[in-house]
Amino acid sequence: MNAHLSVQPLVPAWQTELAKAFTNITDLLDFLNLQPEGLPLSDQAIQNFSMRVPVGFANCMEKGNPNDPLLKQVLPVSDELNTFPDFINDPVGDLEAAKLGGIIHKYHGRILLITTGGCAINCRYCFRRNFPYADLQMNKTRLSLVLQYLHDNPDISEVILSGGDPLLLNDNRLGQLVEKISQFHHIQRIRIHSRIPIVLPSRITPQLLEIFSRIPQQIIMVLHCNHGNEISPEVITACSLLKQHQILLFNQAVLLKDVNDQAEQLIALSEKLFANNIIPYYLHLLDKATGTGHFDVKTSRAISIMNEVKANLPGYLVPKLVREIPGESSKTGVFF
Ligand SMILES: *Cc1c(COP(=O)(O)O)cnc(C)c1O
Ligand code: SF4
Repeated sequence: MNAHLSVQPLVPAWQTELAKAFTNITDLLDFLNLQPEGLPLSDQAIQNFSMRVPVGFANCMEKGNPNDPLLKQVLPVSDELNTFPDFINDPVGDLEAAKLGGIIHKYHGRILLITTGGCAINCRYCFRRNFPYADLQMNKTRLSLVLQYLHDNPDISEVILSGGDPLLLNDNRLGQLVEKISQFHHIQRIRIHSRIPIVLPSRITPQLLEIFSRIPQQIIMVLHCNHGNEISPEVITACSLLKQHQILLFNQAVLLKDVNDQAEQLIALSEKLFANNIIPYYLHLLDKATGTGHFDVKTSRAISIMNEVKANLPGYLVPKLVREIPGESSKTGVFF
């Protein structure tokens, strides 16, 4: 070994930060100056779906507030153990498709790829919380299946990288994936569905931006932000870097009880997104996955919230309220 050579960090800073994410309730509550007494915490909930909260996301929470809308999204609580007949393990019917190589081709002209099982954060309302994600990692065999599929289906013009969270892939893997996909001339757009610019903005590195800059296709990023408080100064910087690299930014949110089910919260979210060049795209009704029933907002109530949102914002800041119905050829509109 040449001891005099300066040593490059083997692990990028964002990976170090990710490794420091809160994974147990006590540490998170200490950080927030909250006492566990009186909170409906559940270890069984953690066993069903582990806890993961990046420090930056926790930093956006209000200290001492057990009802903080960001905390509600990530804290494992006993309500998750409640069962309801219409809440099932695979509510959108993705699991079978995902197992078959991670290619989900439900809608015309675009395919969605499961690139990884993991996320930087574990959202308690997630419809994928019950999936065996270790099986879903993109690998060599899967990549060659994807490339064969694109070769065989020239009517596909858009590839959506999803997960889990595709930005959890390291630069080599992600770079190889987008580069291979971009070689098909019929692919006009590459879309990335990611919550990482919101929950782990340090992932938006010059190296990552460089990967995107090399791709001739348009790159679209659909972020996932549910509440204006998630948009920290670090998030704003990351989004502005993406924007500077000609990446179009949209946002999808999930309508969640006690998180963002007040019209004022959704209005503030749209305003704050747009102030940072992010266009509100979809507001999803909850996918009815086992363990998420306490987040559900009834459709009738959702529509009345949206009427109030619409009465207060220009049309382009009103997200489309949609739900996913298995077998349909697109998301199903509930309120535009
Ligand atoms: C949601 C989804 C898409 C994207 O739908 P858009 O309406 O184009 O945003 C594509 N494929 C699958 C399988 C989806 O679930
Ligand atoms: S980031 Fe998205 S996919 Fe990951 S846990 Fe949250 S909702 Fe689920």
